[in-house]
Amino acid sequence: MKEILQALVEIVGTEFVSDQPEERYLYSMDPGTMPAREPDFVVMPDSTEQVRQVLLLANQHKIPVVPLGAGLVLSGLSRALKGGIILDMKRMNRIIEVNEMSRYALVEAGASQGMLQAYLKKHHPRLKHSAPDAPPAATIAGNVCIHGSGHISHAHGFHSDMLNGLEVVLPTGEVTRLGSCATSDYWFSRAPLPDLAGLFLGWAGTTGVITKLAIKLYPNYRFNDVGVFVCEDARLMPDILYRMSETQMAEDLTAWMTPKPDWARGFLHSNINYGANTKEELIWKRNLIRASVSEYIDRKIAGFIPMPAAMKQPFLEVPARQLSRFADVRKGGGFEYVGVIMPVDLFAEAYELGLEIASRLSVSYSLGARIIGINHCMMFFYAYAFNRADPADVQRAQRALEATNRAAVDMGGIPWKAEAPAQKEIIRKMDPNMFALMNRIRAVLDPAGIMNPGNWEID
Ligand SMILES: Cc1cc2nc3c(=O)[nH]c(=O)nc-3n(C[C@H](O)[C@H](O)[C@H](O)COP(=O)(O)OP(=O)(O)OC[C@H]3O[C@@H](n4cnc5c(N)ncnc54)[C@H](O)[C@@H]3O)c2cc1C
Repeated sequence: MKEILQALVEIVGTEFVSDQPEERYLYSMDPGTMPAREPDFVVMPDSTEQVRQVLLLANQHKIPVVPLGAGLVLSGLSRALKGGIILDMKRMNRIIEVNEMSRYALVEAGASQGMLQAYLKKHHPRLKHSAPDAPPAATIAGNVCIHGSGHISHAHGFHSDMLNGLEVVLPTGEVTRLGSCATSDYWFSRAPLPDLAGLFLGWAGTTGVITKLAIKLYPNYRFNDVGVFVCEDARLMPDILYRMSETQMAEDLTAWMTPKPDWARGFLHSNINYGANTKEELIWKRNLIRASVSEYIDRKIAGFIPMPAAMKQPFLEVPARQLSRFADVRKGGGFEYVGVIMPVDLFAEAYELGLEIASRLSVSYSLGARIIGINHCMMFFYAYAFNRADPADVQRAQRALEATNRAAVDMGGIPWKAEAPAQKEIIRKMDPNMFALMNRIRAVLDPAGIMNPGNWEID
């Protein structure tokens, strides 16, 4: 271990390696319910070359390597399940280039959502990227590689759909560019070459380390507005969402159902966020959206909540900070959610499942959904709050998360950013030939089996 430590010091410098108990403790967990797993070393590289050197060393000595962004995924994907090195990418946080005309940003893997948001606001105010509702420290790479979604995902899909290209370091040390950047100085698209970026999307860091990536940017509207539509019958939701999405006016279309505050209990809310460059355009869009659901309004079975500007403000925030406040529901704040990617048709079943599990297992819950693409699918989330200082409460939340993962898979959904036990639930239903292909790909890319081991495995 001493020799490995010394070799790591030679690669990144004394200040950026630690095998001390304090750091190993801090890096052993994330804010969710998954149990702590201590790494042997924490390493913070500053360049692609340093990442390459670390991987060569790890490969030679068969040391596990776990890439880490901000560690905010909540499902424990960046814990060192089998010890080894946590590769904390936060020093590699440069914004390398913004191409204004072709609307993309090229960043290093440790660049955070908040950094890019602030940079664009200052230097390119006509542009924005799609930000998740995660705290601003979340990294762009960590989010893209788990197929995250955000505040313009209704219009533009998953964040991985907005990816133009990657620079990755393979576990065997080769630095590889994928997308147009493999052939051109411009990172404008993944087409028309064979799309190998998928080898690093959805794999939870088990195939290599992303060091750079380019993501698409979008027009930043001057005016933004939100409508909140309410109904009481979950069975109406797929049609309501379908009609609203048909207008193609929304950037973000979300739903939320919570027992708190009291006035919200029992109601299903759909938030439709849209923007425009003039007030006239904004009003025109608002009218089109209203017309799309006028049948429900006329029948008096659903309607928009009249909202003064101050009440709209929290719904217009990017990221939506109110989500994190759910952790305050229990003392000793903690929350974790199962996000299930599923067809919009399953909305009512998904909602009933959340209510049933929360009542059966006595957990504090919040349910919701983000529509991805124009009703192409949704990320339905089941968030459970718990008190970190109360092991029984943490266990209750864990049981609810497990039950949700299992039932969601049986229902036809797929848990997103699934923790290791939930990955096994997915594998249980997966086409065995797909799982066999995944294993063959991993064996080729990572012959020594060093990348985030314990994930996407049966035992
Ligand atoms: C309050 C709250 C709200 C949230 N809302 C959203 C939301 O709206 N949308 C959404 O998508 N998510 C959301 N999340 C989930 C999560 O925080 C985000 O997806 C976040 O962007 C993950 O990024 P990270 O940097 O924390 O990744 P990490 O947790 O550090 O890593 C995630 C996974 O990616 C791998 N990884 C990280 N960096 C690399 C790399 N450079 N190369 C290879 N693999 C790598 C890790 O090994 C791990 O498997 C939310 C979380 C919270 C706490």
